[in-house]
Amino acid sequence: MVNFMLTITAELENLTNLQPQGGCDDPSFTYYFRLKCGNCGEVSQKRTCVSLSETVPLPNGRGTTNLVQKCKFCGREGTVLMITGRGRPLTTEVSQAGKQTPLMVFECRGLEPVDFAFGDGWKAESIEGTEFTGINLSEGEFADYDEKGECPVVISNLHAEFVVVK
Ligand SMILES: [Zn+2]
Repeated sequence: MVNFMLTITAELENLTNLQPQGGCDDPSFTYYFRLKCGNCGEVSQKRTCVSLSETVPLPNGRGTTNLVQKCKFCGREGTVLMITGRGRPLTTEVSQAGKQTPLMVFECRGLEPVDFAFGDGWKAESIEGTEFTGINLSEGEFADYDEKGECPVVISNLHAEFVVVK
């Protein structure tokens, strides 16, 4: 069992606190990524989607997890469980320092998450306090205008990485 923390960074123009719409532990926020088999190294062709609100029974029948997936190549089964309470919004300070912010921890057995894809359902605040919700990052960037602050707001240069944590 290995814990992988999803960390993200982006360039924020006149924005701060980029995070899932319902906060870092948003139950309905969906994470999209591929899975690499720990047994044979095969990477799944399709991206998997997991969210806190969706659980499935564990193969051994003891409790539930967020995902059970079988490797299409070798047939080995693996599981992914989401661990809450470790995520933090991406602030201007962190972004400007070129650092990553943690979003979510995935406890994986037999699988390794790779190739995270940014999707829909993000939010951020302008430096004037205007809240932007329903931000879709699937095109790799976001641009709007803050009427109150009379300034453009932009999210660009998105990067995500899974790092092994305790
Ligand atoms: Zn495999």
